[in-house]
Amino acid sequence: MCNPFSGIYANEERWLENAYHCEDCNESWTDCWYCEVDDDCPGCGVTYTPESSELLLVNGDLEQEPVSA
Ligand SMILES: [Zn+2]
Repeated sequence: MCNPFSGIYANEERWLENAYHCEDCNESWTDCWYCEVDDDCPGCGVTYTPESSELLLVNGDLEQEPVSA
């Protein structure tokens, strides 16, 4: 699990935890970034797009349920 509140990207307005899976290596990993970025498999180096992305942060605040009118 990453910490979106530290590092040089702490001021980004949105932060995602991207989940990847490589079938060749049977390897799953996650990486945190401010967009749905491709990442290289740590086993074979093939570039993958995220299988799924979880939104961790929006506009500097933790994501909250929208207030219903
Ligand atoms: Zn791989």
